Amino acid sequence: MEYFEPRSVSEALSVLARHGAEAKIIAGGTDVMVDIKFKEEPGGLVNIKKIPGLNGISENGAGLRIGPLTTIREIETSALVREKLPVLWEAAHQFASLQVRNTATIGGNICRASPSGETLGPLLVLDAKAKLAFGDGQKTVPFTSFFQGPGKSSVGVDGLLTEIDIPYPPAGSKSVYLKHAVRGAMDIAMVGVAVLMTSDSGKNNIQDVRIGLAAVAPTPIRATKTEALLRGKPLTAALVKEAAALASTEASPINDQRSSAEYRRWIVEALTRNGLGQTWKAATGKEIA
Ligand SMILES: Cc1cc2nc3c(=O)[nH]c(=O)nc-3n(C[C@H](O)[C@H](O)[C@H](O)COP(=O)(O)OP(=O)(O)OC[C@H]3O[C@@H](n4cnc5c(N)ncnc54)[C@H](O)[C@@H]3O)c2cc1C
Repeated sequence: MEYFEPRSVSEALSVLARHGAEAKIIAGGTDVMVDIKFKEEPGGLVNIKKIPGLNGISENGAGLRIGPLTTIREIETSALVREKLPVLWEAAHQFASLQVRNTATIGGNICRASPSGETLGPLLVLDAKAKLAFGDGQKTVPFTSFFQGPGKSSVGVDGLLTEIDIPYPPAGSKSVYLKHAVRGAMDIAMVGVAVLMTSDSGKNNIQDVRIGLAAVAPTPIRATKTEALLRGKPLTAALVKEAAALASTEASPINDQRSSAEYRRWIVEALTRNGLGQTWKAATGKEIA
């Protein structure tokens, strides 16, 4: 296996252009090293950790810019993320073990494009965007259209994720990330649900709601039909029941070693109900009518 340590984005891109699908980018390596051991060895490894400028969390006008090499632990310990993007902080906090969080990067979590990636539901509800570099230029892609299937994304085999741009959620909005896993934080999500809700100024109706579902479809998804059902209405017991049932039909889960499809649908329903209830109460100060 050939090993490369590019010192710039353009150097990394030219290695990828020369080696195409044969070469694999490695960041924290918590997915790549497992794949090498248990699945297949790539023709080359492109270690991007020595490229300057791909790290860190900073304010960027009306949002945060996160470098792809930022570790999950750096996100978890960032006061800025905790204050401004609590739904992403919650996902980082529930991510694997401390050892894995110290090594795993947000860029790796995104580019792995696993349907169950912990940070992906939060990025979807935050309306975040990926900045990608290719040999022939740059592209900005919203995460709502970034994921194309398990392991497949707009980054392809010759692109590099260079930045994650996350706008601040609307003032007064409240959010929650709920993970269902058998072994708590040390397990990949069986189902992940992120909810971000904004109430109207009178705190009587849902002005906007965004629901991200993970591990229940070939890609992480937004439950757009459920969101449309809820907008402009007060959250009543009947509505929350209808919305949670609709969210479970927007999911298209599979049976695998972690869960049956049927159980996953049931968990989507339960977590959506909880997430809506929690965010409604936090946004309006009211119980469900
Ligand atoms: C014990 C264990 C527990 C885990 N628990 C969880 C969990 O709870 N939740 C969860 O979501 N995941 C979990 N994972 C999976 C893994 O830790 C995450 O997906 C992690 O975020 C991957 O980041 P990394 O930096 O290690 O990526 P790497 O393994 O280095 O790379 C992952 C993929 O992304 C590509 N890549 C990386 N950076 C870039 C970039 N900038 N541009 C283009 N492509 C890039 C690589 O080529 C590779 O395909 C776990 C893994 C282990 C081993």
